[in-house]
Amino acid sequence: MPELPEVETVRRGLAPVMEGARIAQVAVNRPDLRWPFPERMAERLTGARVMQLRRRSKYILADLDRGETLLIHLGMSGRILISGDALGRFVHDHPAPEKHDHVVIDMDNGARITFNDPRRFGAMDLMASEGAEAHPLLAKLGPEPLGNDFHESYLATALKARNTPIKSALLDQKIVAGLGNIYVCEALFRVGISPQRKARNIAVARLKTLVPAIRDVLTEAIAAGGSSLRDFRQADGELGYFQHSFDVYGREGEACRTQGCTARIARVVQSGRSSFYCPACQR
Ligand SMILES: [Zn+2]
Repeated sequence: MPELPEVETVRRGLAPVMEGARIAQVAVNRPDLRWPFPERMAERLTGARVMQLRRRSKYILADLDRGETLLIHLGMSGRILISGDALGRFVHDHPAPEKHDHVVIDMDNGARITFNDPRRFGAMDLMASEGAEAHPLLAKLGPEPLGNDFHESYLATALKARNTPIKSALLDQKIVAGLGNIYVCEALFRVGISPQRKARNIAVARLKTLVPAIRDVLTEAIAAGGSSLRDFRQADGELGYFQHSFDVYGREGEACRTQGCTARIARVVQSGRSSFYCPACQR
């Protein structure tokens, strides 16, 4: 499932072919993904110029010159491919349509953007740009972890009343937007906080280290996405999925990487999600 860094990598990959360009043609090949597509979506998009491509949490937002904003969510299995453009290092012919190519957007610069989603947990919607932040998917989101509103005193206040484990609290999108399982596990390992520790019991001094750790793991993952894919694109034109090495995530039973630690990485299931951690380093 794409997390914030993967979505940001997709946004950065799309920006050069979408920003400033006009949508020449849109094919919508089915009525819905997770939810029905907005009414007359193809018609409302065709001819519009993309002013800006933004990200909020795990949503990509394309502001159009017609006063509407297109929201794209990759869901569990959504993939975006670019073909047909001559920007950057790779030049791709348009591939033959595939079974799960649900929406195909042709830009006036020749780039084709294909949204493929076998499991259809993804979503697209169109809304007025003004007040877009009040969209039901966006309205309740907490601050961006890489933004200025996410800092230690905010986090201390948000966690004060939380009787839940810190792991669950950090996955709560109302507390901080866009953090997912992988990067919460990694950030907690870096600061030595057990995923099972009650959120409200963590000293402010430790929260002080947690905020920069969260920013660091996300920033490093975004950088890895960019460096492993020239122009954020793989040779087949697919955006946003990259190999990244993790300290704890997916490493159950393997040696802890902290120097001098002889423990092995453990896994525990919390709220239906696996938490990976070092029982010796994280308290
Ligand atoms: Zn350890």
